[in-house]
Amino acid sequence: TMLLELHDVSKQYGNNTIALSDVNFSVREGEFVSVIGPSGAGKSTLLRCINRMIDASNGEIVFDGVNALGLKRKELRNLRTKIGIIFQHYNLVDRLSVIENILHGRLGYKSAITGALGIYSREEKEQALKLLNILGLEDQVYKRSDQLSGGQKQRVGIARALIQNPKMLLCDEPIASLDPNASKVIMDYLKDISKSMGITVLINLHQVDVALKYSDRIIGVSKGSVVYDGSPRHITKEE
Ligand code: ADP
Ligand code: ADP
Repeated sequence: TMLLELHDVSKQYGNNTIALSDVNFSVREGEFVSVIGPSGAGKSTLLRCINRMIDASNGEIVFDGVNALGLKRKELRNLRTKIGIIFQHYNLVDRLSVIENILHGRLGYKSAITGALGIYSREEKEQALKLLNILGLEDQVYKRSDQLSGGQKQRVGIARALIQNPKMLLCDEPIASLDPNASKVIMDYLKDISKSMGITVLINLHQVDVALKYSDRIIGVSKGSVVYDGSPRHITKEE
């Protein structure tokens, strides 16, 4: 069954920039799909339209049977709970500890308060600790997040997304700021989590070799249009 469907999705910024034009594709439940393409192709815009961080100009986006573009502002919370998002620059709150970043993540940045873990139930804290264990961060729980390495920060970003129990993870260039070793660790975690938790992954990557290695399917984007949609086996590195 399809978890996500895009029908003729377009996005125009201002009067001139057409970032996406008539994008069509679907993502099956549990699939690991990479979106590849050069800088400026529209990859980030595409991901941001799906969880309604920005609004598409035209088209239809159906997520889990719900018309995402038809949701009112107040109804977006439910959509965003089901769609976790991971950023290139992690978007952690520096002065908060690792566990605070994870638990506050669902309240949003504005509600983030240092030393306010008491507002969470024991179950919520246990769930956060469980995720930190899965992501190999059990020794960093109470560290300030600005003391972590990039790879550790991104693992916190993954845990923050997972605590909402999402059906899908949108990953916007999650390894673009990391060295090859840390990149491999992050990609291995994403792949494992996708498999073991049955979470669908849509990930923007500019490293074609990484996309080919990890993905069930590749969507190639160029100048706002889908130019390839298929198996990684039919792509050679030279393309
Ligand atoms: P990618 O993620 O593939 O690098 P983007 O989605 O960031 O591509 O950008 C696609 C196009 O939209 C680019 O031409 C970019 O300059 C433009 N763009 C992105 N964000 C904005 C914005 N907030 N306002 C105006 N133009 C934007
Ligand atoms: P990146 O540099 O990693 O691409 P940005 O710093 O440009 O990401 O952030 C993009 C947008 O995401 C910003 O408008 C910011 O307000 C928003 N944002 C940051 N953190 C979160 C979060 N945890 N959940 C949802 N939106 C967020």
